[in-house]
Amino acid sequence: MPGVSSARTQVAIVGAGPAGLMLSHLLGAAGIESIVIDKRTREAIQTTVRAGILEADTVRLLSQTGASSRVLSDGQRHDGIELRFAGTGHRIDFMALTGRSVWLYPQHEVLRDLIAARLADGQELRFETEAVRVEDDGAVARVLATDADGEPLTITADFVVGADGSRSVARRAVTGPAGEGYFREYPFAWFGILCEAPASAPELIYSNSPEGFALISQRSATVQRMYLQCDPDLDPQSWSEEQIWEALEARVAPHPLIRGPIFQRDVLRFRSYVASSLSSGRVALVGDCAHTVPPTGAKGMNLAIADVVVLARALRALMRKRDRSLIESYEPDVLERVWKAQHFSWWMTQMLHLTPEASEFDRRRQLGELQSVVSSEAGRRYLAEAYTGWPLDLESLL
Ligand SMILES: Cc1cc2nc3c(=O)[nH]c(=O)nc-3n(C[C@H](O)[C@H](O)[C@H](O)COP(=O)(O)OP(=O)(O)OC[C@H]3O[C@@H](n4cnc5c(N)ncnc54)[C@H](O)[C@@H]3O)c2cc1C
Repeated sequence: MPGVSSARTQVAIVGAGPAGLMLSHLLGAAGIESIVIDKRTREAIQTTVRAGILEADTVRLLSQTGASSRVLSDGQRHDGIELRFAGTGHRIDFMALTGRSVWLYPQHEVLRDLIAARLADGQELRFETEAVRVEDDGAVARVLATDADGEPLTITADFVVGADGSRSVARRAVTGPAGEGYFREYPFAWFGILCEAPASAPELIYSNSPEGFALISQRSATVQRMYLQCDPDLDPQSWSEEQIWEALEARVAPHPLIRGPIFQRDVLRFRSYVASSLSSGRVALVGDCAHTVPPTGAKGMNLAIADVVVLARALRALMRKRDRSLIESYEPDVLERVWKAQHFSWWMTQMLHLTPEASEFDRRRQLGELQSVVSSEAGRRYLAEAYTGWPLDLESLL
């Protein structure tokens, strides 16, 4: 019979992205029950191409908590990146500068691993279930949702976590209906492609050129991911393959690219955002729902995981000892890293992209900035420290 169905749990999590799934995994390991809902199908979640770079501590958390063993066997360790400008490549050697690396392992593979691990643990994961509103009446919190049959569903919980990405509905329960926060929009976007070809370079190439930015990245031995700066309103189908390859080649010249058939294209708009508040009463926000960064610093997914590390510890104290102190300090505890990552992502973006209104002075100043970074050990070290990630306090979770 159709009607309002209901469920009860300790922690209701809206969104089965990296933030929501990792949180349920860490709570499950501590014996805390949760229900995770996501509006998309399992197949859609496991096949949407997004992030690719994992910080060293993200990898440590995934592998040492049993969330993913494949990250170490199938992921590729990268010990540096290349910064290219004025036709020359400059390697930033992460290992030599910080003793740390990053790992190339696609986000949808992380999600595939997390979903398999959660289901094997008996986790309640409800796909095609869309949250409409989150409420907190002081005594309990609720997620009002629509289930996979289109029927209303109410999940009552001791605590609700908004992990529903940048277009969050959960956020309003914390920030108010206007979804207030701190924003920056950018006058450009990334045109991303996936192509069937061997890798054109062993490490990522971030290239500043007079034609605009390009990023040459890798996926596997046979599939590569590449991006070029474009107008945010560009229709990705409007360019021929020849146009795309010519634009990419011009932006990384004289570095050669190995061409291959392009089988996926998308346009990714840029935005920097931090919500005005990250928790209130029995609701907290994590990941892109709490803050978004432009992808140039490869920080978004790693920042989502860093929030979850702090919130998992706070929820353990709350559920096991009725101790609210870590929940009260969740926002200040994560904000320092969030703003450092905001700065790094903005800095990489403005240093590497060409703004439409840039003057010749702006262009020459930008080259001066890039030269300052690559010619100074302090400059290279800052980039390496931020890119590989500021250390996470994982000890009590492993
Ligand atoms: C092209 C690209 C490249 C990137 N590269 C990197 C990188 O190299 N490194 C990095 O760290 N980050 C990168 N990022 C950013 C990274 O992908 C995001 O920061 C990350 O996905 C955030 O995870 P999340 O769990 O917070 O949110 P999401 O991954 O957005 O997950 C939110 C989930 O909530 C669900 N949802 C939304 N609304 C509702 C609702 N009302 N009810 C139920 N479910 C809902 C969605 O279906 C989704 O599954 C990149 C992003 C893009 C687009």
